[in-house]
Amino acid sequence: MPTACQAKDHRCYQIAILAGDGVGVEVMAEAVKILDAIQQTSPLSFDLKPYPCGAGCYLKYGDPLPETTVEGCRQADAVLLGAMGLPDVRWPDGTEMRPQVDLRFKLDLYAGVRPIYLYHPDHTPLKGLGTGEIDFVIIRENVEGLFASMNAGIQIREEVAIDSMVITQMGTERVTRFAFELADRRHRQQKVTCVDKANVFRSMAFFRQIYDQIAADYPKITSDYAYIDAMALYLVQRPQDYDVIVTENMYGDILSDLAAGLVGGMGMAPSADIGDKAAVFQPSHGTAPDIAGKGIANPIAMILSAGLMLSWLAEQQGDTVCADQAKRLSETVTQVMATDGIGTPDLNGHLKTSELGDAIVATLRNE
Ligand code: ATP
Repeated sequence: MPTACQAKDHRCYQIAILAGDGVGVEVMAEAVKILDAIQQTSPLSFDLKPYPCGAGCYLKYGDPLPETTVEGCRQADAVLLGAMGLPDVRWPDGTEMRPQVDLRFKLDLYAGVRPIYLYHPDHTPLKGLGTGEIDFVIIRENVEGLFASMNAGIQIREEVAIDSMVITQMGTERVTRFAFELADRRHRQQKVTCVDKANVFRSMAFFRQIYDQIAADYPKITSDYAYIDAMALYLVQRPQDYDVIVTENMYGDILSDLAAGLVGGMGMAPSADIGDKAAVFQPSHGTAPDIAGKGIANPIAMILSAGLMLSWLAEQQGDTVCADQAKRLSETVTQVMATDGIGTPDLNGHLKTSELGDAIVATLRNE
């Protein structure tokens, strides 16, 4: 792992590395390989600092997200995260540890950005869709909604348990604005779909009302609406109709997995959790205990998340060199994944995690 900035004229980025548990560790090794290849073949350089976190960290140090790790994330230019949590390591109340979600709250990473892109027609279970014909982004509100009740629901004796949906004006405004700004920058369908359940829940009617207030500031972008249940149907029937989707935390959690299934599964779904002062980049998947340790996890979601990190750093810092490298990585992944038969077993391919990472590195170097 590159641990210090190489002597170059260009600025060096400090990246906190939180590999975590299970396949998180395996796919992180591939992302690090990619960053190293970029570092060796461009003016960019990275100082990658690993920090302990996750269920394994809890077993060792008694805390799945030590304060030193959170502080390291605050100090870094960006955070790369693998995956965290193990089914057998739980809090005394029986809930699983979710330090990656705790980190979103601690760093106020309110926009969960989940791009969904079809790299090869064989990856989708749907008929008649070619490369790039599924291309949308889910913006999941990340720090309120039903998840505001995480670790804080009400339990009365052994008889009643309540988790509440929390929607605020400020929280909805900022995530909706983020979605409209993204639609504007993407230059595709110029459409933002608000996904809610405004016909039933007061909280969701409030969410839609705030969406409409923000939409008024973007007259060139089409406003679109869907109830969450109908949206599950539409995404399967006509995913090509969507551009940017904005929704409440729990709905976004569920829709993200459905959407990943449209383009090859969790191993193809990257994500970025973005706030005003920090950002964490991680695959949408969990620690996949069913395949962990076998060397067959798909590293593409993790590698694409590293690409999202480069794009975000480029934008934040006005760094055109970094923007070029983000584009280079994106084009390389597109080229490799468009090749017939290439992939890990989840894509019906025969490559190991490290072999797919090596294929990306080889293509990057040969350009
Ligand atoms: P979490 O709740 O922590 O997000 P989860 O319960 O949704 O996790 P995952 O760990 O994401 O579960 O796994 C869901 C399914 O996707 C499993 O069958 C797993 O093997 C598969 N999967 C997840 N990540 C990958 C990957 N990188 N490559 C291949 N398959 C994966």
